[in-house]
Amino acid sequence: MTSKALTLTFIAAFAIAWGFLPEFTVTLCNYIGLYALVAAGLVLLTGVGGMTSFGQAAFVGTGAYATAWVCTSSLVAQWLPGWLSTSWLPWLGLLLGLACTAGVAWFLGLVTLRLSGHYLPLGTIAWGLSLYYIFGNLDVLGGFTGLTGVPALKIGDVSLASPQSLGPVIWAILLLALWALHNLLDSREGRAIRALKSGRVMAESMGVNTAHYRIKLFVLAALLAAVSGWLYAHMQRFINPTPFNINIGIEYLFMAVVGGAGYLWGALLGAAVITLLKEQLQDLLPKLLGSSGNFEIIVFGLMMLLVLQYFADGLWPRLAAFVRRYLRPTVLESTQRSHASATLSQRALPGAGQVVLEASQVTKRFGGLVANNSVNMSVKAAEVHALIGPNGAGKSTFFNMISGVDDPTTGIVMLMGKTMTGHPSRDFAALGLGRTFQHVRLLGQRTVLENVALGAHQRGHCGWLSAMLRLDRKEEAALKAEALKQIERCGLGEFAHLPAASLALGQQRIVEIARALAGQPTVLLLDEPAAGLRHLEKQALSRLLAQLRTEGLGILVVEHDMEFVMNLADRITVLEFGAVIAEGTPDQVQSNPRVLDAYLGGSADFAGEVA
Ligand code: ADP
Ligand code: MG
Repeated sequence: MTSKALTLTFIAAFAIAWGFLPEFTVTLCNYIGLYALVAAGLVLLTGVGGMTSFGQAAFVGTGAYATAWVCTSSLVAQWLPGWLSTSWLPWLGLLLGLACTAGVAWFLGLVTLRLSGHYLPLGTIAWGLSLYYIFGNLDVLGGFTGLTGVPALKIGDVSLASPQSLGPVIWAILLLALWALHNLLDSREGRAIRALKSGRVMAESMGVNTAHYRIKLFVLAALLAAVSGWLYAHMQRFINPTPFNINIGIEYLFMAVVGGAGYLWGALLGAAVITLLKEQLQDLLPKLLGSSGNFEIIVFGLMMLLVLQYFADGLWPRLAAFVRRYLRPTVLESTQRSHASATLSQRALPGAGQVVLEASQVTKRFGGLVANNSVNMSVKAAEVHALIGPNGAGKSTFFNMISGVDDPTTGIVMLMGKTMTGHPSRDFAALGLGRTFQHVRLLGQRTVLENVALGAHQRGHCGWLSAMLRLDRKEEAALKAEALKQIERCGLGEFAHLPAASLALGQQRIVEIARALAGQPTVLLLDEPAAGLRHLEKQALSRLLAQLRTEGLGILVVEHDMEFVMNLADRITVLEFGAVIAEGTPDQVQSNPRVLDAYLGGSADFAGEVA
């Protein structure tokens, strides 16, 4: 049996059992479904995207209050055109709820998502509380007593008033949402979403507009919460602010974390575990302690601590690993090679010798320290240019200047003839700049193939909706095929389906090169690519870079290994104390007295090379 077959069997068994379950169990299942919908949004937001929110309950409230107001307000009843029967009101409520939630979430996201570190979760607590008090203090929403008389949902002539009849709708929506979110994560856009967690610099260098993606993710999670709130209002038939309290917001986060914040099914597992646990504790504790009180909250808190202590990744990965032992492994989809990359956008390489990247008079000051002092340098198509210099000479700083990670204090950087002052690094990527990082930045848990496919982000076009509906499969196959091509070209074919973190550090550097190549760059910036490579691997890297040069790429390497640099580079620029002290061919540089001075004073390995 495969995991897909097992999932379908479970769903079928659940559907068949539904009619025979006692009403109490059915109600409990409905609650689990509603909670899981919110938790699934949190998995996406927190587990995958790295943004912690304590405030999701407020969005559930927005969805619930919108429909409750539409269905009970006399104002709406007056305005309602004659041809629209009142049975349409809940659907109008859904539309209003989604619109309000999207608006509120977009605004709150714009304000809070700029916050970093602990400030973001604190920000979500702040607006979670605010929205709760808004619900409680608005007279049109019934104040703290809330709104009653919310009608049951009706589909055609079928009333969904009983838990038995509403349940299938709740679960169908949940399963549909899980399917769509799973598709989203398994796509080009999904890779960009995962990249958010590893920091702005890497994702932006792959061409991902991180601010844009963060807001979209935030709105999507809020919309899922709003749908849950809509269903909740029509299940409960009355609402007040209590279930949209910040406490419940914290509970939603607990569900996602306990289930496994990085896993969509973890949302369902977490919602089930926590709902059932609370239920049991409420029954059990008064019997044990002989008095009633809110003891379950204390015991609940302690149990949470234990779970988080022993299952840091949540319960789902453990359960999945256990079940997988009895399942047939899923066959890896074979990536089609034939002409697949035709659907990706292509870039023409400039002619050999043309200047592709140029820095003029680039100066960077950190307070009083001049890290780069009027540096001039150019990289031409079909050449390997090396940037060398002792530690602290300003190489990495210069790298940041010419890749858009940071702006020069003064001076100009031109890429493909365009002035790039003030542009973010994703614009550099769009113009054909590919780069690697001195400290490897890969998504360690994802496969090499996925990591490399992220590099081709800007060559695809399918958006979130088409990813969710799986309309992007042709493009996705092309992206995967392109990634595999680059992986094989870099000699890592046998590792394509392994998690990137399982490779040796030197190999991870090569994965970064493959990722840069997947973007079809015209300029390649490599920060210490040979560090951590063994002798034979260095030779292979040398051959690869020479091959890329023949194909017409302009390559800039920062490297400490002098043998590697001297054998490969066409031109070398030497930095010392932030300023260029020499530029020329390897022979010219090696015989330059200032360079010898700089290196004899600093590191011995260059002297060894030269001697
Ligand atoms: P290299 O990569 O050649 O070893 P760097 O570019 O990392 O050198 O550093 C050049 C100088 O600039 C060093 O003196 C370093 O301490 C300083 N520097 C680098 N980044 C910053 C920063 N963000 N703030 C202050 N000083 C910095
Ligand atoms: Mg450095």
